[in-house]
Amino acid sequence: MIHFANVHKNYGSLRVLNNINLVLNRGEVVVICGPSGSGKSTLLRTINRLEKIDGGVITVDGVSLPTRERDINRYRQGVGFVFQSFNLFPHLTALDNITLALRHLLGQSDAEARACGIRLLARVGLQDKAHVRPDHLSGGQQQRVAIARALAMKPPLILFDEPTSALDPGMVGEVLAVMRELAGDGMTMVCVTHEMGFAREVADRVIFMADGAIGEDAPPEQFFTRPSNPRLQTFLADVR
Ligand code: ATP
Ligand code: MG
Repeated sequence: MIHFANVHKNYGSLRVLNNINLVLNRGEVVVICGPSGSGKSTLLRTINRLEKIDGGVITVDGVSLPTRERDINRYRQGVGFVFQSFNLFPHLTALDNITLALRHLLGQSDAEARACGIRLLARVGLQDKAHVRPDHLSGGQQQRVAIARALAMKPPLILFDEPTSALDPGMVGEVLAVMRELAGDGMTMVCVTHEMGFAREVADRVIFMADGAIGEDAPPEQFFTRPSNPRLQTFLADVR
């Protein structure tokens, strides 16, 4: 589905993605981990074209990522993105956060968008919170609304950048449960996370990034029990 070939990205003189070669297949759940500053977020952001690359090629279903502003915006609508900091619109209810794009980008009627929004809220276990604003929701609930919002455009792919890192420990489980269900439904997912239990149980492949490069890319069983990269061995010893 997504193919990175010799991808490079620099910030000034700093090389943050160094010769990335990677294939992400449809229906796959890929977890990316690695030390702070290793380029995980940057890699994720190149997929939905929030970041431009300086070398190499990224293709989606064989087609290069768009370069014209209008095409980029249309492409981005088809890629869900869930951020560490939720990024909900604070002045809108949970339901309106979810239906905004349906009404404004897809031109759905209020009734149509509302029905879809209610369905999505139910899917993340928040049907009773439709009319509540984000500041009256817990962190875990806010993140579940953010996931429902990402699902609204029926994206074939969802990217998660440390979706549970800003949450109190007690709320991590409810968000991971929603993500686990999405994975079970066959959603294609790329998740930057340090939740190694999730990686072990849910991921098809786990990727370790170090210094802008892919240091390991293996199925969880191999990744956790027989890592070949020495830096990954140290990393795993630290996060355990
Ligand atoms: P973390 O685990 O802390 O989120 P990360 O692996 O996601 O880290 P990135 O955010 O991708 O790392 O950053 C990779 C490198 O690029 C870092 O050295 C960072 O300082 C640098 N960087 C990121 N964004 C910018 C920017 N907009 N301008 C300049 N340098 C940047
Ligand atoms: Mg990051």
